[in-house]
Amino acid sequence: MLLKDKVAIVTGGTRGIGYATVKAFLDHGAKVALFGSRKETVMIALEKLKEENKDYPVIGMYPDLMNVNEIKDAFQKVLDTFGKIDILVNNAGISQRDKIFDYEIEDFEKIMNLNVNAVFICSKEAAHIMKENGGGVILNTSSMVSLYGQPAGAGYPTSKFAVNGMTKSLARELGKDHIRVNAVAPGVIKTDMVAALPNEVIQPLIQSIPLRRVGEPEDVANAFVFLASDMASYITGVVLSVDGATMS
Ligand code: NAD
Repeated sequence: MLLKDKVAIVTGGTRGIGYATVKAFLDHGAKVALFGSRKETVMIALEKLKEENKDYPVIGMYPDLMNVNEIKDAFQKVLDTFGKIDILVNNAGISQRDKIFDYEIEDFEKIMNLNVNAVFICSKEAAHIMKENGGGVILNTSSMVSLYGQPAGAGYPTSKFAVNGMTKSLARELGKDHIRVNAVAPGVIKTDMVAALPNEVIQPLIQSIPLRRVGEPEDVANAFVFLASDMASYITGVVLSVDGATMS
């Protein structure tokens, strides 16, 4: 139980890496507010968690992550329910793989709005609350493409480079307030999209990964548990690769 009685918010918690993180946090004794984009998917995720363990202390919400007032209200609801906020995981994110000549500015802005602006908005609100409470942990989901880029869909790696920059900058700014800020950079993780890839795509991909397997959402969730816990009390400002050495 590395997170006993800690209170955490996980954005994009309805599936994939976010859902695995919510479950790992609950299994380590945390109380969790799961944020998703739609009521339906939040309800499905809560139902699934209830089937795992009916006593999990978890609530679900679907605020617009890019709306300052909705985030203030949602964080206040977490405070009203659980009394504090110790951990924020900024995990919600989207990607887009168009080549530059087909890439519309609206799509670029959409990616930056969720992957960067929402991380800023949620981190600012969390930092305010955590400072009052004597400290906390902010964790961001970056990506292995934040290290070297990728040959299409430039908006996504651009957004994740920004996430790394925000992680390192806020770590330096908020350290004196006992707030640690770290990121995890996952490689290819077996979420719905990757699981649906045909064998002829997945096999060469696996051969290119030194550990010869794609990552499981739980591999990323375990890194978040460690970074959120007191075991990582002197670690801040890092971007931890969880990619089987794909980009190392
Ligand atoms: P996913 O598509 O399975 O889940 C994305 C989550 O984000 C969902 O819970 C969804 O509700 C939420 N979300 C999407 N749009 C939203 C919006 N507008 N407002 C609020 N929430 C929204 O994704 P995943 O693969 O689990 O990815 C989670 C994070 O991990 C993302 O930041 C992604 O960039 C990053 N990542 C994933 C991989 C991978 O291989 N899957 C690799 C590197 C990084």
